[in-house]
Amino acid sequence: MTMNAYVKTERTEGASYKKAPLPKPGEGEALLKVISAAICGTDLHVYQWNEWARKNVRQIPMIMGHEFVGTVVEAVKGGFLKAGDVVSGETHIACGRCYQCRNGTRHICANLALPGVHRDGAFAEFMAYPEASLVKLPESIPVEYGALMEPFGVAVSAVENADVAGGNVVVIGSGPIGLGIVCAARAMGASRVIALDVLDYRLSLAAKCGATRTLNVSGISPADFVLSETQGVGADAIFDASGSSAAISGAFKYLRKGGSAHLVGLPSNPTPIDLASDVIFKEATIYGYHGRKMFRTWTRMINLLESGKVNFDPIISHRMPLAQSEKAFELLLKGEDASKILLTP
Ligand SMILES: [Zn+2]
Ligand SMILES: [Zn+2]
Repeated sequence: MTMNAYVKTERTEGASYKKAPLPKPGEGEALLKVISAAICGTDLHVYQWNEWARKNVRQIPMIMGHEFVGTVVEAVKGGFLKAGDVVSGETHIACGRCYQCRNGTRHICANLALPGVHRDGAFAEFMAYPEASLVKLPESIPVEYGALMEPFGVAVSAVENADVAGGNVVVIGSGPIGLGIVCAARAMGASRVIALDVLDYRLSLAAKCGATRTLNVSGISPADFVLSETQGVGADAIFDASGSSAAISGAFKYLRKGGSAHLVGLPSNPTPIDLASDVIFKEATIYGYHGRKMFRTWTRMINLLESGKVNFDPIISHRMPLAQSEKAFELLLKGEDASKILLTP
């Protein structure tokens, strides 16, 4: 019994579309038929086999992918899901035993396991997944949006914490998570959302997601622009989804006194911040985010989508068959006009 899957087969760059054994659900796991799966930056790292991937990937061969929507085909006996339910997956599979798990912060479990990094993932026809990490989606939400809930959850988690209603915010980086932050900030009542990027294509998507101003920051600092847009006061909140150390350090120059910085992007090197002038005298607050609160963020996301205030259509740039995974990865790695690519098995 085999299925088609996109598999990391070697500890080197690349992956292969090939036959893989049908997954057998373990205890507490449901068997899902994958409807659609999205490619994330993490998958690019695993594909490229960079330093992070070499350190973190535990098993080879491994089916890649972690952002998905699927249908339950084999439910857990006595579980809360039934065959036919459409589900999305919380990708932080928590141990349930560590300090964080037992103190209300399961999303930062000390022993996190992620599909497509630590165990078989979603770029396949079928997938076995812990029921406790699945979220049933209402019929009112477009099915393919289910594949984008995981990255959008990071955005919602940050925006919800930032108290943006009526405020002026800056979003650094207009990739899929930055776009999610723009969508969420507008839906939660931010007055001004200034989106920054170095690619005009991405800025055009940010405008479609509701950014009130966009700025291409190639070779320039956005500080003067942000200050002039905010009557010289600076932004109430900045969100970084770029992972650029220079952009993050620079953002503290246009964060207002008493403002907050919300960091989601992953810089590959230590980021210099002038603590005295940019944090202490400013009374700035810095937050980091890793994942979504279980399951408060998911409930909020579903409510936002059901209200119609958030639309993922501008974020989805391509829909491709799983058999064309190789082409999809090449497209993203070349940095061509692409945002979120959905793969359909
Ligand atoms: Zn992801
Ligand atoms: Zn834990």
